[in-house]
Amino acid sequence: MYDVVIIGGGAAGIGCGITLASANNKFNWAKDKKYLILDTNNSDLEKAALYNVPSFDYGISGGSAIKQMKDQLSFFPAIEFKNDQVLSISGRRGDFTIYTSSTEYKADIIVLATGMNKFNIEGLDVEVTTHDKVMKPGKIKIEHINNRVTDGIYVAGLASGVKTMYLIAAGDGAKVACDIFEEWTGKLAVSHDSVKDAIC
Ligand SMILES: Cc1cc2nc3c(=O)[nH]c(=O)nc-3n(C[C@H](O)[C@H](O)[C@H](O)COP(=O)(O)OP(=O)(O)OC[C@H]3O[C@@H](n4cnc5c(N)ncnc54)[C@H](O)[C@@H]3O)c2cc1C
Repeated sequence: MYDVVIIGGGAAGIGCGITLASANNKFNWAKDKKYLILDTNNSDLEKAALYNVPSFDYGISGGSAIKQMKDQLSFFPAIEFKNDQVLSISGRRGDFTIYTSSTEYKADIIVLATGMNKFNIEGLDVEVTTHDKVMKPGKIKIEHINNRVTDGIYVAGLASGVKTMYLIAAGDGAKVACDIFEEWTGKLAVSHDSVKDAIC
């Protein structure tokens, strides 16, 4: 059983996952939490070069940026990243079952970070509409209120209808992680490290 399963391992999914997993060694309420990202390796970043993202080298290819993000994720034992396609989801908050092309997983909470190209996961009561902040036709978003789709289901990144910039998508993922912290703690929560923790 995972506390949170994130579907989609692009900017938003990794932004969410890394924020969640970074809390484990800081707070007692987070120390035993477990997270999983499931991804089909089809991020829009794969088609991009990035010259305008302050945290990456100037002109880095999107594929190299994703590799760097996954390398950073690997420092956090609380989170796993698996290449698998989610086909359907059943259940409710606290007892979701996620069916993939190879197996199934259980989760308390689900984050949909599936991008804007399509949404074809069956079994969820979500409203899929047109993404209206992109010039290209045929792009989608999932309706939500403040990133919450329904009890136990969040949406992050381009799937939530934000503008198509890396930092906005990754930031939306981090915002959803903080929203989940707030659900767990009942108060405002972020995950920060101070300069004494720096290793480089
Ligand atoms: C050509 C191009 C150039 C760009 N250039 C820039 C730029 O210069 N600067 C900038 O800031 N932004 C740029 N972007 C935008 C940037 O790539 C996006 O804003 C960002 O990738 C969105 O992140 P996301 O996580 O919302 O979606 P994505 O990164 O698209 O990630 C969605 C992930 O969900 C996975 N997924 C979907 N369905 C399933 C499923 N059923 N099961 C498992 N996994 C699933 C997909 O495989 C994918 O990995 C560019 C985009 C393109 C296409």
